[in-house]
Amino acid sequence: MQGYIIDTKSVKDDDLIVSILTEDEVITSYRFYGARHSIINIGYKIDFELEITKSNIPRLRDVIQLGFPWILDPEKMYCWQRYLKLFYRHFKDIEHIDRFYYYNLENLEKLMEKQNALRSIIQSYVNLLEYEGRLHYDYECLLCENIIENNICLIRSLIPVHPSCSKSRIFEKKKIVELFEEKNLISFSDDEVEYLWNILLEGL
Ligand SMILES: [Zn+2]
Repeated sequence: MQGYIIDTKSVKDDDLIVSILTEDEVITSYRFYGARHSIINIGYKIDFELEITKSNIPRLRDVIQLGFPWILDPEKMYCWQRYLKLFYRHFKDIEHIDRFYYYNLENLEKLMEKQNALRSIIQSYVNLLEYEGRLHYDYECLLCENIIENNICLIRSLIPVHPSCSKSRIFEKKKIVELFEEKNLISFSDDEVEYLWNILLEGL
């Protein structure tokens, strides 16, 4: 089986509880001496086997790390790990998930080979919001429920609001339309991308 590690928690000694996002589920597993093995780390893609034991958590074994071309790029890896960690909270107490999530991460992994990490992640996140039906193409302000005509502010989950209804950073509506409808970040400055990234870090 293959999957992405989205969380690790230390338990007694060097053991770890490892959460893995696979094609159709989020697996919680137990790894003996996991903390001693550098292949068990958030964001890593692994091939593994599960051993069913008497305890209620399967044992994680035969782990092989599957690398990506940019795995040694510390900046890309840092952003990727922070993004993957958010999936743990997003799927808390959920076991079965749609295949979309695994393949969307695989696509992101490839996108990051040629593109800036934050731009790639935000693009991928907009696809996720769209898939979950949470992308607000109607550009209706969450707070006053009127349509936003010109400038837009975005709050958590990239929900649009009027600049007069919120005190956050103002974007031209045209740019947000490009982002939502074409998944295109070309008109955004690095500073604006960083701002969107910080919204994302509040949670998927
Ligand atoms: Zn409003």
